Amino acid sequence: MTIAVRPPDPKKLIKGATGDWEVVVGMEVHAQVTSKAKLFSGASTEFGGEPNSHVSFVDAAMPGMLPVINAECVAQAVRTGLGLRAEINKRSVFDRKNYFYPDLPQGYQISQYKQPIVGEGEVIVDLSDGTSFTVGIERLHLEQDAGKSLHDQHATMSFVDLNRSGVALMEIVSRPDLRSAEEARAYLTKLRTILRYLGTCDGNMEEGSLRADVNVSVRRPGDPLGTRCEIKNVNSIRFVGQAVEVEARRQIGVLEDGGTIEQETRLFDPGRGETRPMRSKEEAHDYRYFPDPDLLPLEFTDAWVEALQGALPELPDAKKARFVADYGLSPYDAGVLVAERVSADYFEAVAKGRDAKAAANWVINELFGRLNKDGKALDESPISAAQLGGLIDLVADGTISGKIAKDLFEILWTEGGDPRQVVEARGLRQVTDTGAIEKTIDEVIAANPDKVEQAKAKPTLMGWFVGQVMKASGGKANPQAVNDILKRKLGLE
Ligand code: MN
Repeated sequence: MTIAVRPPDPKKLIKGATGDWEVVVGMEVHAQVTSKAKLFSGASTEFGGEPNSHVSFVDAAMPGMLPVINAECVAQAVRTGLGLRAEINKRSVFDRKNYFYPDLPQGYQISQYKQPIVGEGEVIVDLSDGTSFTVGIERLHLEQDAGKSLHDQHATMSFVDLNRSGVALMEIVSRPDLRSAEEARAYLTKLRTILRYLGTCDGNMEEGSLRADVNVSVRRPGDPLGTRCEIKNVNSIRFVGQAVEVEARRQIGVLEDGGTIEQETRLFDPGRGETRPMRSKEEAHDYRYFPDPDLLPLEFTDAWVEALQGALPELPDAKKARFVADYGLSPYDAGVLVAERVSADYFEAVAKGRDAKAAANWVINELFGRLNKDGKALDESPISAAQLGGLIDLVADGTISGKIAKDLFEILWTEGGDPRQVVEARGLRQVTDTGAIEKTIDEVIAANPDKVEQAKAKPTLMGWFVGQVMKASGGKANPQAVNDILKRKLGLE
């Protein structure tokens, strides 16, 4: 059993009726390998086909069929291992994990038991308060997915869809290094980001490409690990957090009532906000693992691994560090931008040759905010990086004010167009003609003699005048010029 090395963090403890408890969480994540074909057959892995339309004789376990390893799936597992800074095992073994289930026609799952393809690694997890911590990865192994039983198609019968049968999965097992629901969510978020950068799993949780089995136990701070329960197949990051929360509370309740925790597999019901028992936990020996006689041990060379390493993309941690060092961004902003490869690329296209902090502000606050409001993804953004860059240039060279820039943003969002042409066509240029500004100021002053007197006694009232002048100019007056002239006219210099 692993001894956790992180000391208890008082802020993360849960208060029970009899004192504080520490939550301990580890995760087994099943990530569907991005690959056109299945792990041991040429059948398609495409999502959403007619039931049983992507099934080869191998996937259906017809007598005499033999599995043939898909080299691309192996490469994907190695890439993932490299992305998790893990040890790559150049020799690994496929085993049969024996159990009966109607959606498992072989009567066993081909998996890896004692010699997985990837050994120990780590994931650096970033929290919303800007701190980071490391989660140990125990192993990553390749295995087949099972089919799916359909219970809702017929009143008295269940059907089986084998489209998923034989699809390659990477099971990524973490150490019990997580100490709260937030940490569990942050870990899965980061793992998903890394997989998506690597292109080894699309991370689509709605389609089941990424599912988490969440192991939860509780203990008194400083005590050895408690007995854990495994919450099976949690299919959203939000639900992972909720499952940790309610399962920890349940276990604390049982222990504080003098009971004991039975090691078991449980299901999280998001509707009722509770976990409930599924089955008592089976042990590894119940599966009668043995090396699959139909498959040779998997072996590859250092040179092959090095070639894969050399072709890896820049990963989120390296990109974040570069954004902080090269663009002067805060770690938080850099973290937001690198969370998805597309957003990092978009930002870099906007920032190229411009003030990077302004670019980050526009991308994070205005663009992401607007995308969120409309429920759009970045690749559906009506405003391209070139358009947003053009808008920022107009602010930088004084053509438009910051306020008009926001109006322009909205015009580009709804109607499109070249930013500079839109500004010219609509007369949005900032008025820097001091004569014109002076005239507007004189009008405002003439209309408000009482306020002028008050402002002389209370200079902060100048803000009210600035507002009135900006309003009268339709937001187009250069704010600096307005301030300078107002100060002089009100005798506040
Ligand atoms: Mn598994």
